[in-house]
Amino acid sequence: VEDDELDVTIEHNTCVKAVTTTTSTNNGGKSQISQIHTNRGVIEVPKDVKVVVAAGSWTSHILALMGLYAPVYPLKGYSMTVSAKEVLESNPQLKEADLPSRIVADKYLYTSRLGDDIRITSIGEFSGWDTSPTPDADEEFRRESLSRMPQLAPFIHKAPTLCGHRPYVSDGLLLLGKIPAIENLFVSVGPGSNGWKLAMGSGDIINRLVDGQSKEQIKEECGFDVGALDPAGRVVSAPIFSKICRARWDI
Ligand SMILES: Cc1cc2nc3c(=O)[nH]c(=O)nc-3n(C[C@H](O)[C@H](O)[C@H](O)COP(=O)(O)OP(=O)(O)OC[C@H]3O[C@@H](n4cnc5c(N)ncnc54)[C@H](O)[C@@H]3O)c2cc1C
Repeated sequence: VEDDELDVTIEHNTCVKAVTTTTSTNNGGKSQISQIHTNRGVIEVPKDVKVVVAAGSWTSHILALMGLYAPVYPLKGYSMTVSAKEVLESNPQLKEADLPSRIVADKYLYTSRLGDDIRITSIGEFSGWDTSPTPDADEEFRRESLSRMPQLAPFIHKAPTLCGHRPYVSDGLLLLGKIPAIENLFVSVGPGSNGWKLAMGSGDIINRLVDGQSKEQIKEECGFDVGALDPAGRVVSAPIFSKICRARWDI
């Protein structure tokens, strides 16, 4: 998809498979990304172009392709969605007041209302990058959902469980900024459970960093110390360990 006004091209269904980095002596011996290999061909990266990896939980996979280790892991979450309209139509004894109308959260479930959708979510599971539900966890999720909202039972029974990954950094802090080992590489990852809430803010900050704003300028304009989220020292060059990770992750 191309947008001339914004000067943006979006390549859908394009998966990064490998990255070529080159080292030139007139660049102080630093590496630079020069090509991105995808399932749909090679994207050439000119010298003055910067690359931002913002691939959620898969950021660690993409950085491993460049011999880097990033402490980013997927915390798998479970969700199902029930239509309020269908519930009310199927059971005339139920009224809108019998259904969740806003966020209802307890130590197990987080239920929210998005228009007609009653969205039920739960579970934080470390079980690799597979996004299919683990049967035991799914059973528990459904049992807890039914116990809290028995009025939705027929719909909970037929709603499929969908899983997604919350990208977590091991120390709980976003990784936002430049990767020192590779001259034109930036990363924006790690909001965990708060990716929708943080998207606008982290997008603005990474945009400023890519534009070349200094940490001091950002602090002055946003009142925010971006240094606290610096990937330096947390994303590290680890050629051998990243090879082991790639073998384990089968990438
Ligand atoms: C059940 C559940 C409920 C949640 N509820 C909330 C909530 O109420 N509020 C909130 O703020 N957050 C919520 N979150 C968290 C939120 O969804 C995440 O924090 C957010 O999606 C992270 O955004 P992201 O863009 O960093 O990563 P993602 O959304 O995971 O996006 C990463 C993208 O990278 C792409 N990608 C991966 N590998 C490659 C590759 N090799 N090449 C090219 N592209 C690649 C993927 O296809 C994907 O599109 C919830 C998460 C879950 C699972």
